[in-house]
Amino acid sequence: MEKSAPSTPARTRFAPSPTGWLHIGGARTALFSFLLARQTGGQFILRIEDTDRTRYVPESEADIMEGLRWLGIEWDEGPDKGGPYGPYRQSERKALYRKYAELLVEKGHAFYCFCSKERLERLRRRARAEGRPFRYDGHCRRIPPEEARRRVEAGEPHVIRFKAPREGSITVVDRIRGPITVQNRDIDDFILLKSDGYPTYHLAVVVDDHLMDVTHVMRGEEWLSTFPLHVHLYRAFGWPEPEWIHLSLFLKPTGKGKISKRDSEWLKEKGYAGVFVHDLREAGYLPEAVVNWIALMGWSYDDRTEFFTLEDLIEKFSLDRLKPAPAAVNFDKLNHFNGLHIRALPPEELARRLVPFFHKAGYPQVTEQDLLPIVPLIQERIHTLTDGPELAGFFFEEDITHTPEAFETFLVKHKKVKLDLPTAYQALQVVYQRLEQVDPWTPENLEATLRALSEELGLKSRKLFSAVRVAVTGRGVSPPLFETMALLGKERTLRWMKKGLETLAQMVATEG
Ligand code: GLU
Repeated sequence: MEKSAPSTPARTRFAPSPTGWLHIGGARTALFSFLLARQTGGQFILRIEDTDRTRYVPESEADIMEGLRWLGIEWDEGPDKGGPYGPYRQSERKALYRKYAELLVEKGHAFYCFCSKERLERLRRRARAEGRPFRYDGHCRRIPPEEARRRVEAGEPHVIRFKAPREGSITVVDRIRGPITVQNRDIDDFILLKSDGYPTYHLAVVVDDHLMDVTHVMRGEEWLSTFPLHVHLYRAFGWPEPEWIHLSLFLKPTGKGKISKRDSEWLKEKGYAGVFVHDLREAGYLPEAVVNWIALMGWSYDDRTEFFTLEDLIEKFSLDRLKPAPAAVNFDKLNHFNGLHIRALPPEELARRLVPFFHKAGYPQVTEQDLLPIVPLIQERIHTLTDGPELAGFFFEEDITHTPEAFETFLVKHKKVKLDLPTAYQALQVVYQRLEQVDPWTPENLEATLRALSEELGLKSRKLFSAVRVAVTGRGVSPPLFETMALLGKERTLRWMKKGLETLAQMVATEG
């Protein structure tokens, strides 16, 4: 395919606050930012926004990095890698923010505020009582700059606030939604620098995006409301603005209400994997499938194509096809994509990925080599990697137990089988004797033998094969029967079948 004309290299960033685990919303923001950078030959930056010390969760930074790497979203610059625009953790850039906040004071776009907590609390209560949103009343805007400076130098506790214009309006442009106009009187005198010397998100994000030469700011729609403030700050500093892209929200699977981290618990109770990337990983989803799934929430290529690899996405992603409408999280689609990507893996690769899942399921000895012959039997049948050991774990058992329920469920009561126990028992005894003669023990010979028997016994092959399956494996669902028996080997197949027949004999005896 012809390459499209190279566009200007984009510098994008993912700027999570380390206040919790990486969730699918964050992962999508990171993915789109990454795609744009890769597509244009630019850079993708990871910046940790850890200025809210009260909400800091120490392990979350590692979780975010691990999750991104697992998805294949690798950054070019970041706290662990360094880079020419570092440091990439805001707590390590603290001194910088005071400098820029003071620059705004000098330029007359910000002011020192000495209001006590109590005073602000009174204002807040009054606003609540009057049923209007709280806004700072501008008390300290009126302090003459000289006096304010003296009070700061004398060590009086203070914050720095943005001096929001009181008149007029501002028009800001979001790439997805177009121009948005806001009245300036609706913009608060936001705090830029807190009394502990830490910047607020609003100041830090603007300063860092500017200093790091970020060309496209992609983030969640939840930042749309403070977006005009950020543009005001850019203009107050006299800096060129980046492109602004606010990605649509994710809705709960029901389509009602924004999905949030707090939904993870009930989702799990309902049997869904949850919203955190590490949960999806543990539940046996492939990173390729997760990437494919989240890429199509809020973006589409042509409204038809659904299978995308990360490479495809780098080539095909475009800002123009981002959608403002929120997307409901659909876990059935995730299962669907996981199936597609599992089938697209080379068998050796699937074997490699299955190994840890067999280990966790209680088969610690299993190697990639052991799984190679099994993969062709299950690749078409599994939806997640955890299905692997569920479907094929028995290959690594020396012995199994046959429950009477298995015979009941899969032979007697199964709608498509409906085989009574005495008939099954009689037929299986003949099968056992005939199987003893099979040599060599290959899938082809096994199939020929069992098909001939189905004729001979006048028993539909579906019925007979189901009976053999339960008698051998103790279960109603397994990989294809003849391959399964071949792989188990003659000795194990016959030994297990004998045990199955014993269970069956007891059932028939008690029934009769
Ligand atoms: N630290 C903010 C967050 O975690 C980043 C928002 C942005 O990308 O500007 O939501």
